[in-house]
Amino acid sequence: MSKAIGIDLGTTNSCVAVVEGGVTTIIPTPEGERTTPSVVAFTKEGERLIGSRARRQAAVNAGRTISSVKRHMGTDWTCDIDGDRYNAQTISAMILRKLRSDAESYLGETVTDAVITVPAYFNDVQRQATRDAGRIAGLNVLRIINEPTSAALAYGLDNGAHQKIMVYDLGGGTFDVSIIEIGDNVIEVLATAGDNHLGGDDFDARVTEWIAGECKRLHRADPRTDPAALQRVREAAEQAKKELSALESTTINLPFLMMSGGQPLHLELTLTRAKFNELTRDLVDRTAGPVQSALNDAGLAASELGRVLLVGGSTRIPAVQAKVKALTGIQPSQNINPDECVAQGAAIQANTLSAASTTTALTGPGTGILLLDVTPMSLAIETVGGVATRLVDRNATLPVHYSQVFSTAAPYQSSVDINVLQGERPMARDNRSIGKFSLRGIRRAPAGVPQIEVTFDIDTNGILTVSARDLDTGKAQSITITANDRMSDAEIEQARRDAEQYAAQDEVRREAIELIREASALLSQADRALGVAGKQLDKSEKKQVKQDADALRKALGKGRADKMTEADVATLRSAKETLAASSAHVLQLYEQMNQK
Ligand code: AMP
Repeated sequence: MSKAIGIDLGTTNSCVAVVEGGVTTIIPTPEGERTTPSVVAFTKEGERLIGSRARRQAAVNAGRTISSVKRHMGTDWTCDIDGDRYNAQTISAMILRKLRSDAESYLGETVTDAVITVPAYFNDVQRQATRDAGRIAGLNVLRIINEPTSAALAYGLDNGAHQKIMVYDLGGGTFDVSIIEIGDNVIEVLATAGDNHLGGDDFDARVTEWIAGECKRLHRADPRTDPAALQRVREAAEQAKKELSALESTTINLPFLMMSGGQPLHLELTLTRAKFNELTRDLVDRTAGPVQSALNDAGLAASELGRVLLVGGSTRIPAVQAKVKALTGIQPSQNINPDECVAQGAAIQANTLSAASTTTALTGPGTGILLLDVTPMSLAIETVGGVATRLVDRNATLPVHYSQVFSTAAPYQSSVDINVLQGERPMARDNRSIGKFSLRGIRRAPAGVPQIEVTFDIDTNGILTVSARDLDTGKAQSITITANDRMSDAEIEQARRDAEQYAAQDEVRREAIELIREASALLSQADRALGVAGKQLDKSEKKQVKQDADALRKALGKGRADKMTEADVATLRSAKETLAASSAHVLQLYEQMNQK
């Protein structure tokens, strides 16, 4: 049986883990990194870069580099690259496909089953979009689980004691806080709160602004006016921030940052932890609100918490740790790497689910742990007067099955429209409409007589099905929530096939790019050698080299790897080899002349 993996599909970084022989292991990238930047780029040569390679070239290829696509999940966001449209699911699928393929190389076997994590704040549409991204990447998504729940799983196993804990997750782009109850083989999320737009990127932005301001003050040159310089400042800012988690002071060194008054500007600054804390104090303070509302929702005082877990790379910041301690009175636990524990928990859950689906009893972390999750927001339907009538409360434990009987508002009404809402506000218009459908064929009757039973079913993945049934006629209608931006099954299947086809094409393209580089270099060498040493060749030899060079020039065409078929690549390879053979002599003569 192939192994099931756990994936933390993060806003800034993603991480993949697996349970092997009872031990949870983080799967490294081929470059040896333990997390993969959630960045996708399309080079001008038609190559797709994912992860570190994409992140490294972001500054020089900003228009064709996509970061933080997770923020767009479940929206109608698209991007256009060379006339092809991509939505958030297809871009996320590219990241998932890379994680999957890294896992396959590491494990030496095909991987299809996966558990993927999402922020606790994701609504149904966003969860569904994540599941769809998994399918496009060719994954069988066993379950979508909340990130803090996943972290608690990673820890919960080490800590068998019954207790209520807080998971404080400050990543690159999002902040989530959850209250979780750990019992006998049960981990239940009691409450969640957070801020979808607060994370390490905001800390980087503060340091970036400070560096740019200092540069302007000291050298009268502002790196914010030069995109390449600004990108270097951003990278230095993140680096300094990370160093200040361990050191009291750090040096920011940016030689040749930009031109200033006709001279290259070398910037060197010292940033102390105290100054960094001052620059970012309000960001750290902003985490207090969600901490309090999660505690309130769970009906707990901080003193009732058994533990506080820190999750997300930004919880390495000492001021953040101090804030958590001040807010809760508890020294937070960090014995699992905060960047990795979400993926670890997902791997544990994946192991449990795949073990449960086979008859062989497996042992290992997570076996037998039943994972209970909660709805992130309340669910309602619109009733007469535009009122949002709530059927499922926020933080209800999944799975949910709830029915309520409604009636008609007008006499002889033969159909009802069901508008499904998500949110906490009393009026329908202030909540998000996540799906609509109609139940027709209701028997003619005065207002208030027909009995329409509306049922909400939410499965363990948080995927919602709403049905309406006329209790008189038995007529029923239902929807599984599909917002306008949700992809249809056919679209997902098409996107999956495209992605697979692309993976095959990618090999050809990579080879073509390499070949184009080599062929262009050979052509210019041969042209130069002919010009300088051509006189020493006999006429027919010279003619042959020229002919072969022309043939290679023709095979190169416009040098666009993305426009080349496999046959074009083969023609180019053979033209390059022919010229390499016929020009060897003149190249040698040219070299000898150069050495003299
Ligand atoms: P995550 O999304 O959990 O991978 O968190 C990524 C964020 O954590 C990024 O903003 C990183 O800059 C930040 N981060 C990683 N390591 C550190 C560190 N040692 N100190 C401060 N922030 C860090």
